[in-house]
Order: sequence, then C-alpha cells, then structure tokens
Amino acid sequence: MFTGNWYYFDSINLSGKGRTVSYDVMVISAHPDDAEVQMGGTIALLTKQDKRVVLVDLCDGEPSDFAAPGVRAEQARRAAAHLGADRLFLNAQDRLITDTIHLRLAVARLIRIHRPAIVFATTDACVHPDHAAVGSLVSAAVFYARLDHWDRVPGGEALGDTRPWAVERLFYPHCKMEPPWGRDFAFAVDVSSVYDRKRAALAEYGSIFRIEEGHDRLLTLYEAEDAYVGRLFGVAYAEAFKSQSPLLVHSPTVFLPALHG
Ligand SMILES: [Zn+2]
Repeated sequence: MFTGNWYYFDSINLSGKGRTVSYDVMVISAHPDDAEVQMGGTIALLTKQDKRVVLVDLCDGEPSDFAAPGVRAEQARRAAAHLGADRLFLNAQDRLITDTIHLRLAVARLIRIHRPAIVFATTDACVHPDHAAVGSLVSAAVFYARLDHWDRVPGGEALGDTRPWAVERLFYPHCKMEPPWGRDFAFAVDVSSVYDRKRAALAEYGSIFRIEEGHDRLLTLYEAEDAYVGRLFGVAYAEAFKSQSPLLVHSPTVFLPALHG
C-alpha cells in the first residue's frame, strides 16, 4: 500500500478508502503559482463551463521568497478558489524536483484515483530545474496510469490497488520563465472574458510577487505574454498550449475566427 505523499485542500476528504472523487481536468505543476501563471485563464474558463478541475503541485513551494513557511500554501488555496478549482500538493522538495520513479508513480496514482480526461503539465522548460522535470515526469505518469498488473511489478506497489485509467489528452501550457513560443504551439485559448480572475488568483501570491509595491515586474511580463498571444488572434488575452498528440476534431467548424482567416 502506498503510504501517501499528499494532502488535500478544499472541502474534499479523501483519506482512507473510497477515494473516488473524479475530475475532468488535472493540472500538474512544480510549484503553487505555476498553474495560475501558465494557464490561470483557461482554468477559470473550464470551471465556468462546469468542468471539475484539480491543481496538483509537486511541492508546497517552500521556502518562498517573501513569506514565512506555510503562508504560500494558504495563498495557493485562495488562488485556487478564485479559479474555482480544487488543489492538492505532493511532498517533493522545492528546488530539488527531478523526474524520479517515485514521483512518476505518485502522479500516476493520482491520475488513476481522479480519472481526468485531460491532463495539463509544464513543458519545454530550461531555466528552472523543477519546471524542466515536470514534462517528462507527467508524460511517463500518464503512460503508467493506463497500464495494468502493477501488482506484479517489483517497486510498482503504489499502483497495485488502483485501476488503469487512460487519459484522453495531454496538453502543455507555456512556462513563462522561458521566452514566448511565437507561433510554435498547437492551439490557444481565448481567456479575455475571465482574465480578471487570473489576475485575482495571481495577486494572492504575495509570498513570491512584490504585490505590495503595486506593479510586480514578473506579473507585468506574464500579462504581456498573454496579451501577445491574444494579439496573434485579435483578442485581448490568450494562453498557448502544445499537445502530446496531433489534434483531431469532428469538424473544422469548431475553431474561433482568426484576424485574417
Ligand atoms: Zn514554478
């Protein structure tokens, strides 16, 4: 039996048996604030559309730059509430996250318990080593999650008491510590209508942004990127995503109009 390396925020209580809460979407990031920075608008849109979203942070983000231990976790809880999402942490150590078998199995276990149709995970990151670890880690976890017979795998006991789950789509938001992608992404989401909720979520993080000084330099840069991606389509704000697999639709009529066709 896996000994449990996470705890839950919000109102869900999944301790013990019968952990059957399912989510439509799981967003997996290294630190509290990554999900909000990378795709906070998309999360707000999804929950507005009554999708159940859970944010999974691989660590609690300690130590944070401008706050005592524990403050960032409370800010993260409030930020998730702004976006209408639940949130949970694994207990990896901030700054020391690597793509390990242990973490792959822990994430795969969460996927099998919560059975999301769509998983989002940071990718293409070079600057922050923790961010760089997430893409390969989650890609492996999504693969592990669909496999059966883990009870026959020495070292695979973490998945032995859970059933296989096949994620339908694995998408990757852009890490904003990296330069913008230009047009090299699979799709973008128009988040103009919910952008205030993304701002509100990010404004909670006084532990890592200089909110009290009015205009944090990083938040200004992040918003500029969202406006830049929006500019590609002629909307105010958009968030870009890559996809593990090519995109397939029932009809090419699903797309929103672009500025010049
Ligand atoms: Zn981060």
